[in-house]
Amino acid sequence: METGDSQWRRWRAAACRWGVAIVSVASAVILAQVLEHYWQSTPFVSLFLCAIMFSAWFGGFKPGLLAIALSVLAFDYYFLLPTHSLVPNLNELPRLVLFSIAALMVGLLSAAQRSATESLRRARDDLAAKVQELKSANEALHAENVERKLAEAALQKAQAELAHITRMTTMGELTASIAHEVNQPLTAVLNNANACLDLLPKGAPNIEAVREALTEIIDDADRAGAVILRVRQLAKRTPVERSLLDLRDVVNDVLALARYESVARGVTIRTDLSQDLPSVLGDRVQLQQVLLNLVMNGVDAMNSVPEKTRILLVLGKHDATAGTSAVLLCVQDAGVGLKAEEMERLFEPFYTTKANGMGMGLTISRSIIEAHGGRLWTEPNRGPGATFLFSLPAAPKHPGASGPESRDSAS
Ligand code: ADP
Repeated sequence: METGDSQWRRWRAAACRWGVAIVSVASAVILAQVLEHYWQSTPFVSLFLCAIMFSAWFGGFKPGLLAIALSVLAFDYYFLLPTHSLVPNLNELPRLVLFSIAALMVGLLSAAQRSATESLRRARDDLAAKVQELKSANEALHAENVERKLAEAALQKAQAELAHITRMTTMGELTASIAHEVNQPLTAVLNNANACLDLLPKGAPNIEAVREALTEIIDDADRAGAVILRVRQLAKRTPVERSLLDLRDVVNDVLALARYESVARGVTIRTDLSQDLPSVLGDRVQLQQVLLNLVMNGVDAMNSVPEKTRILLVLGKHDATAGTSAVLLCVQDAGVGLKAEEMERLFEPFYTTKANGMGMGLTISRSIIEAHGGRLWTEPNRGPGATFLFSLPAAPKHPGASGPESRDSAS
C-alpha cells in the first residue's frame, strides 16, 4: 500500500519532469528571441533541439514528447513566416517538417538513452542487492556451519559417552567372569608361593622345584595382569586410535573376558579363525566392544535352550567375493533366533527384549563398524538361533599404511 507521503513524492517528481520540459522550451524561445533581437543570430533549431534533448533525458519519453510538441509549435509560431501565426507559408512547410523530424529523433534518442541509463542503474542496484543478499546468505551459512560443527562435536561426544556406558554395562554382566579370571591365577600364585616357603626352610632346598614354582608364579601373575589390562582398556575413555589389527587377537581378548561367564551359563564357545585373515585398520577397544556385545547377546539368546545345544561359534575368514578384500566375522548362536518383524528393529536405539537390557548394544556396534568403513548385519540360521556378521575392509598391504593411524574422537 502506497502511503500519502510517497504518493506526494511521486507527484512532485512527475510535476518536476513535466515542468522541466515546459521551462526548457520556454527558455529556448526566450533565448532565441534575445539572440535574434540583439545579434541578429538565428540558432533556433539548435536551441530547441537542446531543450528537447534535455527534457527527454531529464523527464523521459512523455515529457520529451511534450517538449517536441511545444518546440514545433513555438518554432512555427515565432520563427517561421508568417510569424505569430500557427499556419506557416507553403515555402516554410519543408523547414517545419524537417524540424519536426529532427526534434522527434533527438527526443526519442535522448529518451532511449535515459531509459538505457535507468535500466543500467536498476541492474546495478539489483546486482548490489543480490550481492548483499548473497553476503547475508553466506554469513548465515557460515554461522549454520559453525553451529553444525558444534552440534556434530556434541553428538560425537554423546555417542562416545553412550558407547562407554554400554561397554561398562556389558562389562558389568561379566564381573563374575572377570573376578574369576583374576582370582584363578592369584590362587595359583598363592599356592606356589606357599610351596616355595615349604621348600626353602629344609636343609638342602630343592632349587629346581623352587625355580619351577617361581616361574609359575610369574606366569600366573602375567595372566592376572593381562586380564586386568584388558578390563582397564575396555573401561577406559581413550581417544579413538586406529592401528593395524589382527582380528584374531581381538577375538582372543574378548573370549578371555567372556570365558567364565559362558562356562557358568553352560555355553560352549568355539572358534574357527582362518589363518589368512588379513589385518584391518581399526580401534582395538571399539572392535572389542562390538564383538563382546555380539558374544554376550548370543550367550543371552541361549539362556532358555537345552544346555547341550548351547554352542556359540565365532568364525573369521577372508572375504574377497565383492571384488574387494575384507575380513568377515560371524557370531553364530543356537538360541531363540529372530522373528521377521524383529529383524527390522534390532538396530534401533533402545530396542530391547531383555529385562535389564539397554537396547543400545547393536546400535552402537553398527555405528562403530560403519565408522570403520564396514557393515554389520544379521541373518537367521537354517536351524535354530541367529548369526550376526560384520565385515571390515582389509588394511592396504603397502608399508605406508601400516602402524598406528588416526585419532578421531574420545570414546
Ligand atoms: P540389549 O542387549 O541391551 O537388549 P542390543 O542392542 O544388544 O541391546 O540388542 C537388542 C535386542 O536384539 C535384544 O534385546 C534382543 O531382543 C535382540 N538380539 C540381539 N542379539 C540377539 C541374538 N543373538 N539372538 C536373538 N535376539 C537377539
